[in-house]
Amino acid sequence: MSILPPCVLLVEDEAAQREVLSYNLEAEGYRVVQAASGDEGLLLILEEMPDVIVLDWMLPGVSGIEVCRQVKSSAQTKSIPVIMLSARSEEIDKVRGLETGADDYVSKPYSVKELMARVRAQLRRTHAAAVGAQLVFEDITLDSETHKVTRGNLELKLGPTEFRLLCHFMEKPGRVWPREQLLDRVWGRDAYVDTRTVDVHVGRLRKILTADGGSDPVRTVRGAGYALG
Ligand code: CA
Repeated sequence: MSILPPCVLLVEDEAAQREVLSYNLEAEGYRVVQAASGDEGLLLILEEMPDVIVLDWMLPGVSGIEVCRQVKSSAQTKSIPVIMLSARSEEIDKVRGLETGADDYVSKPYSVKELMARVRAQLRRTHAAAVGAQLVFEDITLDSETHKVTRGNLELKLGPTEFRLLCHFMEKPGRVWPREQLLDRVWGRDAYVDTRTVDVHVGRLRKILTADGGSDPVRTVRGAGYALG
């Protein structure tokens, strides 16, 4: 398992189902983000770039089918696996027929165990390269098992916070991370630190990465946050 838990976005309007599923997903070690409507789901997809989406078909407002279509028609999000939930198996045939591009379908009532297996299967498919292995960005290599980071032939010594920051950057190169989001992911929601702390540690990370005279791979995006590359 990578040191960053995979993020599952759960789009389901029934609170009780959402509770049960997020409880079980968290028990599997995933980070769960919940949305109660299609509109909220679409916003969170762009904000969180989840690793997998569990999407109910019948939602108030924007339907699950429409959410799926939008995810699959955008270059930015189309590689995110979508597991569609629907109330009856006949509906699944219909959803399939609509060619929404969903990666898997599960009919309600489902067994939680079965759904967890489907989530795992989707993550295995897309995460094979990153889980428990090396992340590579240009001449930087990060091994999430040995915690070894190298740039070119040089091994870099990173503190735990800088290491976690770099993990986030390297898992999604090019993605702009708002300071608040880094704070949340790297330090945790309950940490007593402010966004200036993020700047301090990004500064340290930059210093370490460029110590050998290499170019600075971290980009400051004015008014938005930081990105790698
Ligand atoms: Ca529903």
